[in-house]
Amino acid sequence: MRAEGIETVRRILCVFPRYTSAFGTFEYAYPLTDGVKAFMPPQGLLLIAAYLPENWPVRFIDENLRPATQDDFEWADAVFVSGMHIQRQQMNDICHRAHDYGLPVAIGGPSVSACPDYYPAFDYLHVGELGDATNELIRRLADDTARPDQQVVLKTLDRLPMTEFPLPAYELAEIRKYFLGSIQFSSGCPYQCEFCDIPGLYGRNPRLKSPQQIIAELDKLRECGMTDSVYFVDDNFIGNRKAALDLLPHLIEWQKKHGYATRLACEATLNIAKRPEILEKMREAFFVTIFVGIETPDPDALKAMHKDQNMMVPIMEGIHTINAHGMEVVSGIIMGLDTDKPETGKALLSFVDESRIPLLTINLLQALPKTPLWDRLEKAGRLVDDDGRDSNVQFLLPYEDVVTSWRKCMEVAYQPEKLFERYQYQCDYTYANRIKVPVSPEMRSWANIRRGLIILRNIFWKVGVLGSYRRVFWKFALGRIKRGDIEGLISATLVAHHLITFARAASTGRQNASNYSVRLREASVPAE
Ligand code: SF4
Repeated sequence: MRAEGIETVRRILCVFPRYTSAFGTFEYAYPLTDGVKAFMPPQGLLLIAAYLPENWPVRFIDENLRPATQDDFEWADAVFVSGMHIQRQQMNDICHRAHDYGLPVAIGGPSVSACPDYYPAFDYLHVGELGDATNELIRRLADDTARPDQQVVLKTLDRLPMTEFPLPAYELAEIRKYFLGSIQFSSGCPYQCEFCDIPGLYGRNPRLKSPQQIIAELDKLRECGMTDSVYFVDDNFIGNRKAALDLLPHLIEWQKKHGYATRLACEATLNIAKRPEILEKMREAFFVTIFVGIETPDPDALKAMHKDQNMMVPIMEGIHTINAHGMEVVSGIIMGLDTDKPETGKALLSFVDESRIPLLTINLLQALPKTPLWDRLEKAGRLVDDDGRDSNVQFLLPYEDVVTSWRKCMEVAYQPEKLFERYQYQCDYTYANRIKVPVSPEMRSWANIRRGLIILRNIFWKVGVLGSYRRVFWKFALGRIKRGDIEGLISATLVAHHLITFARAASTGRQNASNYSVRLREASVPAE
């Protein structure tokens, strides 16, 4: 549904800020593609854009693709911004630029919802999810587009049911320029991991869209040009297991109808390994990757962070079960925990070798506001306010030791030989367990073949000829070519190239040790 009953016309400029360079945005892979320039279409801003009154023209700018221009600001009556903590400085920058044109600026999304005080310059703060605060914001802008004398904070008390969410306005975004498509099925998570702000922000009883909405969104993403990969951005795909089970048959039908042209991925807790009935259906729906917050292989640490759900099945067994259903595990890992010891880094590297997980997002612990961790550390006087550090936590081990250990782990885990060995394993043991999908007319189309050729040309030239790890690459690539597995060659190399390049920068101190760090280093893709 949309906001209704508004006569006045307002032109809204929605601006999504650039990302600070981060491990999980894959920007070093973009130059190998056929024109990808940004990570995922931003769900929140495209949702708000779709919810605005039908007679309000909307312009959407993702500054990872291009900056908002003078023409954009002069066109607009008001500016909407949304983003995560890591984009805080960029969001404040957009606000100042909009104010140069005298425009009122509203900010919504996860960062402002957790920390309204990060954004003193904005005119309107939209705190919480889509709901009564959104309607009030629209009403106020319909009445008056002058900047208010003082900041107005609008908090959502009555959330719009997700079943009434409109389809995100994907048509406003240049979908083909994104690395992945994104889609949201649920919001919230029933667990309470100490460091996580999701239950505090979105609740413990997951709210849900209907399967029909998800299918309509997938159709729309396809119409807008996204066919290869779609990521469910839900924090826990099995937060409501029954709902996941209800959705999966619809996804299977949709995949059959479209020739399995789209690979699906999601985030879920490790106890998904105890649910073969869900894993089997995910395999049939062509889920190929699950991001699992393993966090640490140390059971004492899992207990201390209240992540008991990761202990419902032995970690290695859980990973193997997921792999046996054709899905690669991507793992979140945290260093700097109170339970860490001087030998934690070594234990982590053994885990990487044993698990054969290629992609692990290894972050330093960061205390986020609205989390039990924040409250505990605040009481203990262990929160550090210093933008020059990679974490706001005073670790129990010396800070420099923890950062050095993190750098060492990044360096060793992403040595090209080790990484491609892990990918080799995935090709042989995990990808081999996937369903055999038919070669659809779409896959055989000239556009798809041309795209593949462009990517292969880039990979062969930039990695195979100019790359510093070309010997390791060719060993992997020739094996794939012999087996006719060009898709495995492309997908593994795109990600591997990013990981190797990022890890090299990280191990020499040129990248952040946390996805949440507010230190501003390189922005992901220089906006033109
Ligand atoms: S399972 Fe994941 S989303 Fe849920 S509380 Fe833990 S870290 Fe957060």
